[in-house]
Amino acid sequence: MYAIDLTGKHALVMGVANHRSLSWGIAQILHQAGARLCVTYAGERLKGMVEELAGGLPGVTLLECDVTRDETIDAVARRLTNDWGSLEMLVHGIAFARKEDLEGAFVATPREGFQSALDVSAFSLLNVTNRVLPLLEKGGGSIVTLSYLAAERAVPAYNVMGSAKAVLEQSVRQLAYELGPRNIRVNAISAGPVSTLAARGIRGFTDMLKKHAEKAPLKRNVTKEEVGKAALFLLSDLGSGVTGEVLYVDAGYSIMGW
Ligand code: NAP
Repeated sequence: MYAIDLTGKHALVMGVANHRSLSWGIAQILHQAGARLCVTYAGERLKGMVEELAGGLPGVTLLECDVTRDETIDAVARRLTNDWGSLEMLVHGIAFARKEDLEGAFVATPREGFQSALDVSAFSLLNVTNRVLPLLEKGGGSIVTLSYLAAERAVPAYNVMGSAKAVLEQSVRQLAYELGPRNIRVNAISAGPVSTLAARGIRGFTDMLKKHAEKAPLKRNVTKEEVGKAALFLLSDLGSGVTGEVLYVDAGYSIMGW
């Protein structure tokens, strides 16, 4: 049997808002496998909630990181350089679009809303990777980001978030190509809908959950634990031959033709 033991490995997990966050599901699985964790949250507002969660995972380092502020990313990189000296796993579970840009007509998305969604949800993958690159190189790192089917299909109400996910998935391939020779792998998980804070910002999300479960071959929705297990595969040595991929963890929904 192949045991997954991440003892002595270091993981930076970004984008935990609360216990429902997909990043939190991944953090829990990595912790169970023995990894040392640094979990980041977007701002002061989330600090208390994330501290309470992290209380259940002894030894976790908690840091604030707002990806629109480069100095906060650099502060995380400095801290990990001092404390760890290498980084074997990076989880990017960050996305944002303004409420008004998810509610209105996509065609009327203003420049500011478009730029903001792409900055936080897609550019941040490159920017964070670049700022922790020396650590990832030492660790022979593996990166996982979180995408959604709206990257490649028209999904009602996803609007600019679909555009951001398309850019994110292309960035995964381009980064995988560029960083492969440095022994760094980059992959995405395209997750089916899970009820989280970000997902609930999408108009009609509850109805979508129901329809998704009806149509998916497994006749249900996925859980954050299932996303966590797929991330464990991609982040660990089990996925050593996989890079530049988008792995669907969606109960099979994406294979359906109608
Ligand atoms: P979530 O718990 O709300 O996580 C999204 C995280 O992104 C939050 O912690 C949010 O913080 C953070 N974020 C937003 N702006 C940020 C910034 N400037 N700097 C740093 N962090 C920032 O929701 P989630 O569903 O787990 O989302 C995680 C990822 O999974 C996202 O990329 C999402 O698109 C993707 N995904 C989700 C689903 C789903 O159905 N839930 C399906 C497929 C893919 P704030 O709360 O402060 O904004």
